[in-house]
Amino acid sequence: MSETAYPVYGACQCGQVRYRLLAAPRMVVACHCRECQKLSTSAFSITAVVAADDLIFEGTLRHWERTADSGNINAAAFCPDCGNRIYHYDPAQPDIIKLKPSNLDDTRLIQPQAHVWVSEKQAWFEIPEGVPQFDRQP
Ligand SMILES: [Zn+2]
Ligand SMILES: [Zn+2]
Repeated sequence: MSETAYPVYGACQCGQVRYRLLAAPRMVVACHCRECQKLSTSAFSITAVVAADDLIFEGTLRHWERTADSGNINAAAFCPDCGNRIYHYDPAQPDIIKLKPSNLDDTRLIQPQAHVWVSEKQAWFEIPEGVPQFDRQP
């Protein structure tokens, strides 16, 4: 098992945005939807669902939002200098932050507990056996 000690520090690629994660995420999910492929410039993105109280940010963030198929607002916060995506959130649920955790110092905690939007998954990526998967957003 991972023995991550909190707080865990994170930073964007240029270091302008820094943050501290004070406690373990509630859940870590990999999303294979086309939007996540775009934002991660990869086959999927990883999200750590974190209580907003468990994150302390320093630096300037810029925000951008789009309306999802569900009608929910997907808002994103990113570093305006290097463009690194830092987290996503729904403005209607400000107590939950969907952290993009790849820029944490300790990456052991970003093992997905579920894979969603597998219907849009790249064919060459194989989901590890035993990890729950869902065709869309469950
Ligand atoms: Zn940056
Ligand atoms: Zn997605």
